[in-house]
Amino acid sequence: MPLSSATSDGIARAVALLRNGGVVAFPTETVYGLGALVWDTRAVARIFELKGRPSFDPLIVHVAHRSWVERVASRIPQTAEALVERFWPGPLTLVLDRHPRVPGIVTAGLGTVAVRMPSHPVARAILRGVGEPLAAPSANPFGYLSPTRAEHVADALGARADLILDGGRTHHGLESTIVALEPAPALLRPGAIAAESIEAVVGPLERRRQNAAVLAPGQLPVHYAPHTPLRIIEPGEVTPAERRRAGVLSLREAFEGYAAARRLSERGDLREAAAAFFDALHELDALGLERIDAQPLPAHALGLAMMDRLERAAAR
Ligand code: AMP
Ligand code: MG
Repeated sequence: MPLSSATSDGIARAVALLRNGGVVAFPTETVYGLGALVWDTRAVARIFELKGRPSFDPLIVHVAHRSWVERVASRIPQTAEALVERFWPGPLTLVLDRHPRVPGIVTAGLGTVAVRMPSHPVARAILRGVGEPLAAPSANPFGYLSPTRAEHVADALGARADLILDGGRTHHGLESTIVALEPAPALLRPGAIAAESIEAVVGPLERRRQNAAVLAPGQLPVHYAPHTPLRIIEPGEVTPAERRRAGVLSLREAFEGYAAARRLSERGDLREAAAAFFDALHELDALGLERIDAQPLPAHALGLAMMDRLERAAAR
């Protein structure tokens, strides 16, 4: 069992693992998080794999300093500044415009990114040690309760995480409050900071449906979804004439005659494929093609999550 107490040695191990593509569970003041370096797409794909989610869910990006926000967000509205001033570090997550360098798998293809600065000393020490933002959802398998003790994580994820840092029971035991700033301040998820406290700073919050982005990723008009019509089809069965003005998204095979092609993993590795998935869709979508032909992906592990996303895109 990769369980270690959050001593300075434990924290140093966590930092070394995270810098080298590891996935580490650590305590925050809300619940335990399962983190990876935000820039490391394969490590982020492993988070989804470990959680066993049948679909992608945008992850919260954790920062140690206010100045790190600019690394992941392209713009910080005035209302966000006021909330940062009042509530950070702490259990408030802000949804901001995504910086183009943030990998698509972190935001599940959305044009926005969720950011927070945790106050837990262990989470902060890890972030400072890594020196870069970490993408981290709650460290629970899909559909389970959020973990408030290291044992919860160990029982559910066991040896599949590279390291579980035990920092005792989390303080709030409740997820962060998620607020979007634009077009108007809105409450996306009630959490550890009362909505009333936030309203005292930015005025009345619009109450949007909880987890709307997750129930319907890409279906909200403000969020990214491919504009190019997409169909799921075995590209080998598509005629040469039909290929000429279309793009193809495949797992490992190369298909001739398409205007553009993206192969997700030459080795057919689903983790590598998931790591490249959203960015490949983005690139194909930007080419102004008539259509995207997506090859069906294996319906297990991360293939399921990618198929879920393709089916939504095909249904538009
Ligand atoms: P957690 O499991 O507590 O880390 O929470 C992750 C949740 O943050 C997701 O399930 C979403 O509800 C929310 N979230 C993350 N990114 C975004 C975003 N860009 N827009 C809206 N909600 C987001
Ligand atoms: Mg969660």
